Amino acid sequence: MDDLIGQSITTLARHLRSGEIRPVEVVEAYLRRVEEVEPKVQAFLSLDSEKVLQQARTLEEKGSPTEDQPLWGVPIGIKDILAEKDAPLTCGSRILEGFRSPYEATAVERLRKAGAILFGRLNMDEFAMGSSTENSAYQITRNPWDLDRTPGGSSGGCAAAVAAGECPGAVGTDTGGSVRQPAAFCGLVGLKPTYGRISRYGLVAFASSLDQVGPVTRSVEDAALLLQVMAGHDPKDSTSLPDPVPNYVEEVQKESKEIRLGIPKGVIGEGVDPEVRRIFESVTDRLGQAGAQMEEIDLPHLDYALAAYYIIAPAEASANLARYDGVRYGLRVPGADPNEMYKKTRGRGFGREVKRRIILGTYALSSGYYDAYYLQALRVRRVIREDFDRAFQQVDLILVPTAPTPAFRLGEKVQDPVQLYLSDIYTVPCNLAGLCGISLPAGVTKEGLPVGIQFLGAPLEEVRLLRVARWAEEVLGWPKEGWWAPENVSDLSSASIK
Ligand code: GLN
Repeated sequence: MDDLIGQSITTLARHLRSGEIRPVEVVEAYLRRVEEVEPKVQAFLSLDSEKVLQQARTLEEKGSPTEDQPLWGVPIGIKDILAEKDAPLTCGSRILEGFRSPYEATAVERLRKAGAILFGRLNMDEFAMGSSTENSAYQITRNPWDLDRTPGGSSGGCAAAVAAGECPGAVGTDTGGSVRQPAAFCGLVGLKPTYGRISRYGLVAFASSLDQVGPVTRSVEDAALLLQVMAGHDPKDSTSLPDPVPNYVEEVQKESKEIRLGIPKGVIGEGVDPEVRRIFESVTDRLGQAGAQMEEIDLPHLDYALAAYYIIAPAEASANLARYDGVRYGLRVPGADPNEMYKKTRGRGFGREVKRRIILGTYALSSGYYDAYYLQALRVRRVIREDFDRAFQQVDLILVPTAPTPAFRLGEKVQDPVQLYLSDIYTVPCNLAGLCGISLPAGVTKEGLPVGIQFLGAPLEEVRLLRVARWAEEVLGWPKEGWWAPENVSDLSSASIK
């Protein structure tokens, strides 16, 4: 195999399995690529090359892959919010600087057991709060398609690393769009499985009723493979679903017949970039011509989704983040008494956005406001879920854009949090309603930036979701040969930052 860097997970895994290439060779190639482009992209918060090589050597010493090791020798990057035993776990926050995880997340453990090489810790918005990765306390990650733009967020490190060819796939988390939106901004596939499909054990909690683990890959087939490995019940997470795990890898290859797609009424509203509109309309035309039946659907409460999300997510975050108090782990700034110690530790350890959410969430949960905000938001959440239930009686899947704009410029929205919140309009309903969703590349703007489209499916409809997404990939002509590496991506080492 000539170029290991451009390959999908599925292809790499096949060649590793046949013995044509060796894990050490693969890891060495990816480490070289990281060395070459990482100074520009800045996707990794940590990557211990010796440890990574050691994993590859151990695999080789043990011999050949077993039946239950479909990822044997494949490097997979991990968002720095999923615990990996003995590795750093910062969540992009100063409050966890230097902290190493004593245990492993179930999703990560399953990747390891499947033979994957855990390939470094990827940058993210602090505690996954944000849509541009600019809320990381450590570094700015750049979009490999245009280094002056954001890779999206909060799993921006995952998407940037995969798009730049630093690893063939990565695993992130999605609370309100954090896997799908960065995938869209970087020309990749991002899957958010149904709430509870993948265990949250070892995923540092942001908003526990919304958080879900999801893969960032170059193809739908690869997303199916990573889901296959990570999905399933886990006794360590009581919210993980007991339902049997279908064979996604086989199912995704089957033909989809008589697809009924729902397009929400007025889906392209104000504030949607004209290029996103153009590409979305061309996608609906082409999928329609290819045989999908398009139907307009009514989701009357969708306009309230963002407002409900930005009450519920901060409310849960304010409770989840109470544990960072300088007592048990992470940063401790000494004070004259415990109260002063808490104050100083949290004051210095958390960034602006995290503080904003803690304050918002605490306010929404305080007595006197609880009914007016939090309970009201829960009611909105329920009616949104009912809207979707009704829609799914009429159609198989729903088609919407992934984000209202392509990747925006770094710095463009940092001063205006509401602007940034508005950009989540197409992704948060999926989490609120507990659906599954997938974003895939659909075209490029005149400026050469990727634009994604998104399919949404009823809870546990991953098979249908993946199958239709793979069909759409074919109809739309993705992934194109060399798509992940257009000139500006493959020439990263010579690209400049304005
Ligand atoms: N952008 C959304 C937020 O800031 C979603 C983040 C996520 O999915 N983790 O909350």
